[in-house]
Amino acid sequence: MVSRVIPAQPFDLVIFGGTGDLARRKILPALFRRFCAGQMDPQARVIGAARGDLDDAGYRDFARAAIGEFDDDVCCAAEHLDAFLGQLSYVTLDARGDEGWGALSALLDGADRIRAFYFSVGPGLFGDLATRIEAHGLATPDARVVVEKPFGRDLASARALNAELARHFDETQIYRIDHYLGKETVQNLMAIRFANTLFEPLWNSQYVDHIQITVAESGGVGTRGGYYDKAGAMRDMMQNHIMQLLCLTAMEPPAKYDPHAVRDEKLKVIRALSPAQLGDVVRGQYEGTDSLPSYRGEVEDQDSTTESFVAVKARIGNWRWAGTPFYLRTGKRLRARASEIAVVFKDAPHSIFGSDAGRHRNILTIRLQPNEGIEMGVTIKEPGPGGMRLIDVPLDMTFSEALGPDADLVPDAYERLIMDVIRGDQTLFMRGDEVEAAWEWTDPIIDAWEASNTPPCPYATGSAGPDDALALMHRDGRRWREIKP
Ligand code: NAP
Repeated sequence: MVSRVIPAQPFDLVIFGGTGDLARRKILPALFRRFCAGQMDPQARVIGAARGDLDDAGYRDFARAAIGEFDDDVCCAAEHLDAFLGQLSYVTLDARGDEGWGALSALLDGADRIRAFYFSVGPGLFGDLATRIEAHGLATPDARVVVEKPFGRDLASARALNAELARHFDETQIYRIDHYLGKETVQNLMAIRFANTLFEPLWNSQYVDHIQITVAESGGVGTRGGYYDKAGAMRDMMQNHIMQLLCLTAMEPPAKYDPHAVRDEKLKVIRALSPAQLGDVVRGQYEGTDSLPSYRGEVEDQDSTTESFVAVKARIGNWRWAGTPFYLRTGKRLRARASEIAVVFKDAPHSIFGSDAGRHRNILTIRLQPNEGIEMGVTIKEPGPGGMRLIDVPLDMTFSEALGPDADLVPDAYERLIMDVIRGDQTLFMRGDEVEAAWEWTDPIIDAWEASNTPPCPYATGSAGPDDALALMHRDGRRWREIKP
């Protein structure tokens, strides 16, 4: 049932930061799975690059260990591993100096194939890498660069990064990853909206009461405390992942499924967002339990005012959505790890069944995790004799059930996105102007917090966030959906 695999053309993929955490946990296992699926050409080469003193054999050992630890997919047979590792090599190289660049040039020299550079390093090195790639003549006309989040920490720094990359690469060569866009369900959101006639006529403020987007995590900041405490939930999740989900939910139908058309429509959504009022934004910070440290304990700063939770009531000022609020929330140490988009339709205009039948609403839920899938809540008659009593039942399409064993073959976000880079398809990557527009909307919120100097509201570990976030919806006569695993 799952579509056939189209082998990619031969490519050279250089992973700068090839020994880092992201390469270990995501990039190398994703490449191995694509290799197992038959999508990676036997001539393709993956070149790890970092300052560490390794040779090819050492890098292959590193990759073997990473795949052993992080590739839990049974469909990737171990017998493929040696062949995959044979396509890996390593160059010792410093992004900030000239050491190693000659060796990389020699390795790439003369190969007529797709060339991609994955910047799996901190953004402080993007400029150095781009400069040296160009200086050493490695930037072929259709070379691609892949950059990771965080893309800036505000509008000014995002603009500076965009300008830095633009000095060396055309926008069509730059792939800004937001791995949420690589999730199967997120792309299904577009299929549901634009490949079915059922929903689109109802997808507007006339029929939709409100939309909730939740990205809840049950874990705390863990070992990422150093980075997270300088970012917070607004920068780490809201400005990028949740903004992208909002765009795909709210955008107009693009004329076609291509990078320009899709990204133009997403940009229009961000530009149509009304500036958020401070009263429409709640930020929180988790407390500890007997066995778990508080946020402040985890980041080892008892005065930290960084938010580990944020909720926003967003308004989109256009004809489609005027009057339909989007409630967005994300946080750590919440009741469960659960992410979803819920489209809550309006009540039927008139209930012929009388008030005893209760108030019922259709809700379309797009679940990102766990159990990626889509659920449509419909109202039916409660079975049995007696009066007409109504109940809500789900029409559930959990992908793993609907697709059977083929569900295992659905590539994870990094697999899909890396192959899109090789294919040269930018549709699921953020364009520079989108990222800047998103910062333009979030910056005033962050500035206002900093100016107000008020600490985030505390919330209990395992809860649904601070009481103020619940009140954000209660005051509109609505309530958040339960966060459940
Ligand atoms: P990391 O574990 O700290 O790894 C950094 C890598 O860069 C290492 O391979 C390091 O090796 C190399 N490096 C550092 N300085 C270098 C230099 N001057 N020249 C050449 N190589 C250098 O970081 P990470 O977690 O993999 O994250 C990489 C990027 O992805 C960051 O921008 C991060 O925000 C982003 N990201 C990471 C994750 C994740 O799950 N880890 C998720 C989303 C986004 P040497 O020290 O040996 O040079």
